[in-house]
Amino acid sequence: MPHGKPAGVRCVQLGDQDRCLLFGQPTRPPVCASLRPHPGLCGASRAEALAHIAWMERATAPPLPPKDPA
Ligand code: SF4
Repeated sequence: MPHGKPAGVRCVQLGDQDRCLLFGQPTRPPVCASLRPHPGLCGASRAEALAHIAWMERATAPPLPPKDPA
């Protein structure tokens, strides 16, 4: 994904079993390699992890453009 991965878009490097196809490879983006498992992010289940990630995406999303008054 040469222009970055937008929030909410599935990474092209995510395999059929939801595992990173670049894991352990030097081509894995540094931001991905910098993430470390933590209970505050991963929670106790896949559902909790996805909910945490969704919250982080909303919290760090760029502001919406101003509405057109017309
Ligand atoms: S860790 Fe990064 S490169 Fe790998 S699947 Fe997730 S977003 Fe894609």
